[in-house]
Amino acid sequence: MRITDFAEMRKLADEFGLLILADNTFLSPYFQKPLQLGADIVVHSGTKFLGGHNDVLAGFVCVKGKELSEKLRYTYKTVGCSLSPFDSFLVLRGIKTLSVRLERQQENAKKIALWLKNRPEVTEVYYPGLEDHPGYEVNRKQATGAGSMLSFRVDTVERTRKILESVKLISYAESLGGVESLITYPMLQTHGDVPVEIREHLGITEDFLRMSVGIENAEDLIKDLEQAFQ
Ligand SMILES: *Cc1c(COP(=O)(O)O)cnc(C)c1O
Repeated sequence: MRITDFAEMRKLADEFGLLILADNTFLSPYFQKPLQLGADIVVHSGTKFLGGHNDVLAGFVCVKGKELSEKLRYTYKTVGCSLSPFDSFLVLRGIKTLSVRLERQQENAKKIALWLKNRPEVTEVYYPGLEDHPGYEVNRKQATGAGSMLSFRVDTVERTRKILESVKLISYAESLGGVESLITYPMLQTHGDVPVEIREHLGITEDFLRMSVGIENAEDLIKDLEQAFQ
């Protein structure tokens, strides 16, 4: 949930003659447009918000300027890493509802973040849409929303286990960005192959959980968390 400042990155890149590659998966083009913010190359996992329904694997690479675009085109034509017709159909179909899904997901995420903040069992909440998030101002400067990804810490390791085992409406599963809410245990899942010292340095400890908030009724999601916390 750390926010990178595009303007500062652009200054550094210009100073050292580098290209900027941004992974815009978490916000999607609906909330953030990195090419307009100074990035040269933008990647998106189409599997996540763009597809939006957890039923397709896809990826996008977008570049600035003719030279990069020709290089990229040559690569995918020769390597063959382009999307099948049916997968393309699913992603295009998903994109039609991107704006409505993301507005609802963001609204739900904010409600959940505020609810988590008031729980005595929760020791930290990381959501860039909260005014006290360290990246709040930077995010507001460069993006039109904070998205629907959030993470938090709880008081004990037992509680992380209890929450993961008890959620019913929310699924304990990897991936993110779809219409269904998912909760993950980054230590074992997304960052399971990262060496312990690096993982801990990144703050991905055993009390740490991540949520991708979906489009369900926010009250239902909160009730589900409430029973899982007990
Ligand atoms: C999932 C993810 C990827 C990889 O995308 P796949 O569609 O799973 O190949 C890359 N970046 C971020 C930020 C992701 O969440």
